[in-house]
Amino acid sequence: MILILKSKLMKNIKGININLVGCKPMIRRLAWNDGKIQPRTLKVGHKAREAIKKIKQKIVTGEYEFENVSCFCGSCDDMVISEIDRYGFYYPLAICKRCGLIRANPRMTKASYIKFYAEEYRNAYGESDSGVAKLFEYRINQGKQRYNYLVKHVDLPAKAVVFEVGCDFGTALLPFAEAGYDVYGCDYGVEHIEYGRKKTGLKNLFIGGVEKLIETNKKADIVVLHHVLEHFCDLEGELIAIRKIMKPRGLIYIAVPGTLWWINNICGADIMGLLQNAHTYQFSLGSLTYVMECCGFKLIHGNEKIDSFFKVDNVFRKKQLIPDMEFQRVVSYLKRMERKYLPKYYLIKCLEILGIKKMIKNMWQKRC
Ligand SMILES: [Zn+2]
Repeated sequence: MILILKSKLMKNIKGININLVGCKPMIRRLAWNDGKIQPRTLKVGHKAREAIKKIKQKIVTGEYEFENVSCFCGSCDDMVISEIDRYGFYYPLAICKRCGLIRANPRMTKASYIKFYAEEYRNAYGESDSGVAKLFEYRINQGKQRYNYLVKHVDLPAKAVVFEVGCDFGTALLPFAEAGYDVYGCDYGVEHIEYGRKKTGLKNLFIGGVEKLIETNKKADIVVLHHVLEHFCDLEGELIAIRKIMKPRGLIYIAVPGTLWWINNICGADIMGLLQNAHTYQFSLGSLTYVMECCGFKLIHGNEKIDSFFKVDNVFRKKQLIPDMEFQRVVSYLKRMERKYLPKYYLIKCLEILGIKKMIKNMWQKRC
């Protein structure tokens, strides 16, 4: 049955050419299931529902194309973890058996992702449901917090050049600008960049990717990648491009939803909470450090959550020096989390079948 459903889907997704010899994903409840999402899926508002519908149409009509990609380490020997994301998009997540890096494969092409970010991303993920003004204010507060965190950990010279890739409204750059730093940001989200320029008064917010920062002819003291690296299509190409626009002693701050921390601490052991089609990669500290070192960076500080600082290094790790036992470590963590979550999953399913899920949920919330 799964094969038939997948075959139907294949005909409807342009660019897909994968081997579908009946293999099931490691997490069985997250098989494609014809796009039907599981219990505990995120609740989204009207704008988000419309955007999700639009994206699904664009996938079916071929406006958004998919492609197969090999792992950063060059291997294609993968194990499929899951096939669907929390919005019901086809999102096959594979872990490389050689280096342990997790990636979406197949996934949308870079050109399709750029259109997706420009037109639907923020709406589909529910960020527009409360209105752009409210979201902007929320981001202003987040930006202040991030600024305080970064200046506490990093000693920046006066008038330091600060780059942010995926800067959204530019709100996290605003406190840096107010403190006298020279700030530049880029993002593919047209509406938010335009709104941010108007509201923050920052002139150097550009619509696009790293190439826009290259055009400034500036060299960064610090580059901020806050929940952005997991969206990159070409890890090596983009990280090396970033390295070239950094000063020799430059730093890069990277925060991503670290697989080995996030699932347990944020998602209540349900891996589904981590699954969204915009994430082309998922990292552990081990796989992130491997990727960064191969691109000419050295780890200064990092944890599994992933909050990390790297500096420009003169040494490039050879790709064949893969992290030791990373695949086994990540797979065993994922299996442990699934064992922890499954009783809850079956309980929710039972309550749904009995039609009393909402009632129990309300009772539970009142009790809390
Ligand atoms: Zn690999």
